[in-house]
Amino acid sequence: MSKKHGKHHRGQKHGRGVTDGDDLNATAGSDRPSTARWASAVDTLAESEPAALRGHRATPIVAAPGVVAVEPGARFDLASVEADADGGLDKAWAKEALDTERARIVALQERLYAERSRSLLLVFQAIDTGGKDGTIRAVLKGVNPQGCAVASFKVPSSEEMDHDFLWRYHARTPGRGMIGVFNRSHYEDVLVVRVKGLVPEAVWQSRYGRINDFERLLTESGTTVLKFFLHISKAEQKKRLEARIADPEKHWKFDPADLVERKSWDAYQQAFADALSRCSTPDAPWLVVPADHKWFRNYVIAKTVADTLAAMDPQFPEAVKGIAELKVPD
Ligand code: ADP
Repeated sequence: MSKKHGKHHRGQKHGRGVTDGDDLNATAGSDRPSTARWASAVDTLAESEPAALRGHRATPIVAAPGVVAVEPGARFDLASVEADADGGLDKAWAKEALDTERARIVALQERLYAERSRSLLLVFQAIDTGGKDGTIRAVLKGVNPQGCAVASFKVPSSEEMDHDFLWRYHARTPGRGMIGVFNRSHYEDVLVVRVKGLVPEAVWQSRYGRINDFERLLTESGTTVLKFFLHISKAEQKKRLEARIADPEKHWKFDPADLVERKSWDAYQQAFADALSRCSTPDAPWLVVPADHKWFRNYVIAKTVADTLAAMDPQFPEAVKGIAELKVPD
């Protein structure tokens, strides 16, 4: 699809259809389309919308050793994944291979940005010290900052609390051509919220289905959703917390609240296992990454991102016709 075509299709035709079509009572003869005309415009749009269809097909590719894709609909036992697994890889090799995967990501991201038709959302969840920040830094190093947006979700503001729980996340999903990164995500609303009892159980229980619907909306709209759970052991968390206490350069990362949260380790593991079991879908599966070894974690995630982008196969837009004959005026 040419850039021009894509832009026109999305920005104008789609926009006009939705705005005019919102008024379903518009009568024939007015300058607005009738309901029937509106419906057929939507049909035409769906049939001729390669971006959405291609985006829908571009499900995550999991070909890296040691990464476990949670089977949709199955009960998932988090303890079945060894947090210190390394897929039998050699550390020095994996560090070099990481550079190769990063180079693939950078090249493919340029195409994704130029195509401006689809997007990729990377979701990172982990227990405190699980390595979300380090992963984002390692995997996305070198990516054009203009084509990538990271959203870090903290305790909701009062404005965010005044809305439905998905409002703040939906507002930060990546636009066409972009890679979006969620450092924590809509899953917090079935994790910390559940563990700390911030809402009644009936409320958080209702959220798993809503999350699946939300992610289906995204995938059917041309966003490929890659969800990584960084799985560390309780012993590794202890080591990382101790390192933050011992090293003055890491003091800024230390939050005494993490020591309190650690007491709820088992409750968090249960909440993670439920979220992974109930929200792993064919289009947006949960990927569990053994994350005690940072070098292993970085390599397998970079490879999964690169493979998934390659499967999306973004294309540069067609050049303007006759470009080779064009002359730039003096
Ligand atoms: P991080 O640990 O991600 O580096 P912070 O130390 O600022 O960042 O922690 C963010 C905090 O916000 C975490 O304790 C997390 O549980 C909390 N949080 C995120 N989303 C929500 C939410 N929807 N409701 C309540 N707390 C949340």
